[in-house]
Amino acid sequence: MINEIKKINLNNWILIAMVLGFIVGMALNLFVTDTFIKDTLLVDNIFHFGGTAFINLMKMLVVPLVFCSIVVGTASIINTKKIGNITIEIIVLYLATTLIAVCLGVLISTVLQPGNGLNMAGSVYTSNITANVTLTDNLLNMIPSNPISSLANGEIIPTIIFALIVGSILSILKEETSAVRNFFTQFNKIMIKMTFIVMKLAPIGVFCLMATTFATLGIDALMPLFKFIICVILAIIIQAVIIYPILMMIFTRLSPVNFIKKYSPVLLFAFSSTSSNATIPLNLEKLSQLGISNEISSLSIPLGATINMDGNAIMQGCAIMFATQAYGMDLGLSALITIIFTAVIASVSAAGIPSAAIISMNMLFMSVGLPLDIIAIIMGIDHFLDMFRTAINVLGDAVCTIIVSFRNNALDKDIFNGKKG
Ligand code: ASP
Repeated sequence: MINEIKKINLNNWILIAMVLGFIVGMALNLFVTDTFIKDTLLVDNIFHFGGTAFINLMKMLVVPLVFCSIVVGTASIINTKKIGNITIEIIVLYLATTLIAVCLGVLISTVLQPGNGLNMAGSVYTSNITANVTLTDNLLNMIPSNPISSLANGEIIPTIIFALIVGSILSILKEETSAVRNFFTQFNKIMIKMTFIVMKLAPIGVFCLMATTFATLGIDALMPLFKFIICVILAIIIQAVIIYPILMMIFTRLSPVNFIKKYSPVLLFAFSSTSSNATIPLNLEKLSQLGISNEISSLSIPLGATINMDGNAIMQGCAIMFATQAYGMDLGLSALITIIFTAVIASVSAAGIPSAAIISMNMLFMSVGLPLDIIAIIMGIDHFLDMFRTAINVLGDAVCTIIVSFRNNALDKDIFNGKKG
C-alpha cells in the first residue's frame, strides 16, 4: 500500500489535492456554521498559512530563476555566433506567432469572461497596472534605472532587460569573464533544483488554496474554472486549425491537411509527455521525413522548444484576463498592451518542460502586481491543460520551420506532398 502511494506522481498528487481541497471547502461552506472553526481556525489560519507559504516559496524562485536563466541563455546564443539571417527570420516568426497566441487568449477570455463570478475583489492586493498610465510611461518603467532595486522589488521586465545586457556583455568578454559565467550557470542549476523541490510542496499549497476558495465562495467558484479551461482549449484549437493553416497557405501554399496527417504522431507524443524538449528528437525526425532540410530544423526546433511556446502564450493571455476579471480590475488600452507585451516575454522565457507555464504565470502576475492565489487554483488543472499546450507549442515550432525552410529553398515539395519517398 505504502509503495503504491509512493508511486503516485506529482501531477496526480496535485490533482488529488485539488479534489480534496474542493470537497473540504464545499463541506465547510455547506455544513459548518461555527464561524470559529470554519473562518478563524481553518480558513484564516491553517489554510491561509499553507497557501501563503507555498505562494511565497514560488515568489522566491522567480527573480533569481529568471535572471540566471536569461544571463546564461543570452551568453550562449550570442556566443555560438548562430545569429544569421535565417535565425533572425525564425525568431521574428516565433515572436509573431507568440504575439498572436497571447492576443487570442486575451480576446477569447474577454468575450467569455471566465473570471466573472470568481469574486476575489475583497482580497488585499496592490497592482501596478493602472489604466491611466500612458504607454510611453509603461515603456520607460521597463528600463532599469536601478537594477538592484528592480531585483529586490521583483520588477520582472527591468530585471530581464538587465539580464539581457549582462548576458550579451559576458559573451563579448568571453574568457575574461568565464568565472562570472560559470557562477551564473551553476546558480541557474541551483535554482532549477530548488524549483523541483518547491513544486513537491504544491499539493499542500493547492489543497489549502482550493479549500479556502470553495469554503468562501462555494460552488460559484467551479464555473469560472470550467470556463477558463474552455477559453484555453478554444484558443488552442483556433490557433491550430485557423491561424497556422492560414500562415502556411500565405507563405508556402502547401497543404496543411497533408502536413497534419503525417505529423500527428509528434502531436500525440507532445500531448502525452507534456515536454517540448523531450519531443525534439521525434519532431526533427518527422520534419526530415516531410522533406525539410536538417540544416534549418536542427537549429529552429531546439530554439523553438526554448522560446516559442504558443500554447503557453495562450494560457498567459487567458490567465491574466481571468485574474483581472476575478479581481474586478478595469484595464485601459495602454495597460492591456503592456500586459500583452509582458505575457510574450513570460512565455518566451519558459522552458520546454512540464508545467513551465506556472513559472511564466508567476513572473507575469508579479510583474503586473497581481496576487498569485489564482495561479495556485489554476495549478490543480494545469497538467490537463499542459497536454494541449505542449502539443500546440510543438506544432508552432514545426509550422514556423516549414515556412522558413520553404522561403529558403530547404524544403522538398515532392517529399512533403508524398510524391516522392
Ligand atoms: N509543458 C510545456 C512544454 O514543454 C511548457 C508549458 O507550457 O508549460 O512545451
